[in-house]
Amino acid sequence: MKTRASVLILFFIASISSLFSIERTDLILPTIPEYQIIKCDLHAHTVFSDGEVWPTLRVREAWENGLDALAITDHIEYTPHDKDIHINLNRSTEIGAAVAPNYLLTFIKGAEITRDMPPGHFNALFIKNVDKLDTKDWHDAIQAAVDQGAFIFWNHPGWRGQQPDGIGKWYEEHTRLFEEGYLHGIEVVNEDEYYPEVHQWCLDKNLTIMGNSDIHGTIASQYSAGPARHRPMTWVLARENTVEAIKDGLINRRTVVYWRNKLIGRTPHLQMIAEKSLEIMPGQLALKSKNNTPLQLVNHSGLEFDLNLSFVESNLSLPTTVTIPPLSTVLIPVGRPEKSQVADKVLLRIQVNNFLDKPNQGLVFERELVVQ
Ligand SMILES: [Zn+2]
Ligand SMILES: [Zn+2]
Repeated sequence: MKTRASVLILFFIASISSLFSIERTDLILPTIPEYQIIKCDLHAHTVFSDGEVWPTLRVREAWENGLDALAITDHIEYTPHDKDIHINLNRSTEIGAAVAPNYLLTFIKGAEITRDMPPGHFNALFIKNVDKLDTKDWHDAIQAAVDQGAFIFWNHPGWRGQQPDGIGKWYEEHTRLFEEGYLHGIEVVNEDEYYPEVHQWCLDKNLTIMGNSDIHGTIASQYSAGPARHRPMTWVLARENTVEAIKDGLINRRTVVYWRNKLIGRTPHLQMIAEKSLEIMPGQLALKSKNNTPLQLVNHSGLEFDLNLSFVESNLSLPTTVTIPPLSTVLIPVGRPEKSQVADKVLLRIQVNNFLDKPNQGLVFERELVVQ
């Protein structure tokens, strides 16, 4: 009887502890037309390859970090814990998929094809059976992923473990995959690295721009919640937060990478996020009657904006370098030279230095302002 009571108490404690709330760091992003911005990390490891954590912790920390979707992508060919853990190539994603609904997190089954350079490492997402990718020949592994309808991206082309100078190189193996239509995207960002040359490849070859953590240890030991050291993410512009909609977004190149307070992506996507985040108030400049007038730039998003401002073909002046913290407003004085004429409309040129639509180059767009 005593034993039974102890068991009951233990069961009660276990039930209560599972009801504790946990906290999530949410990044506020603007609402954009047609799509949701689904925050994903599509490259992560567990103890089932060379990671240090169990798959359930991967899922939980993904939710805590504000992600909407996670892929676990353990190495197929590299399993250094196999003397301690029975390696089943499908097991980490089975465990992850089972707990993801508890966090309302979309879970994507993946694996990392891990070969010497060339061709290097590739993640295959949306696969059904990892065992079929465990082949002798690297191309057979890619083919097995394609046969399962995978989205395939090349991981960390400039990783110093395979490229000592840290610069990605394109080999004939990559031309082969590209021409076969088997290469869908490339990591422009992996962990702490950004590869500008790979950014250009993605633009030139119309490949999906990817950026992921490739986390092996715990996120808490490697990243923080602040803007400078947050977890890298691939944001997918998708119609809804489902596996199928995320796949559609990836295949159709609708991604933005969020890395170290920077966004990396295609011009229309970055411009849409910038324009929906920033509001210029008022839309008129009262410069016909005055020499100086204030302009407010309101940042409605959780992103920081690092701006260079100028007027196009105008003698108006304003501070050229402006940083707007998340959810903040800055006041900018606009000046007109003494006794000078000013047009009825002026174009404000906005360069967002931390939104990279070309390698190491900030997005530029213009806003028309009425002068009264
Ligand atoms: Zn790798
Ligand atoms: Zn990896």
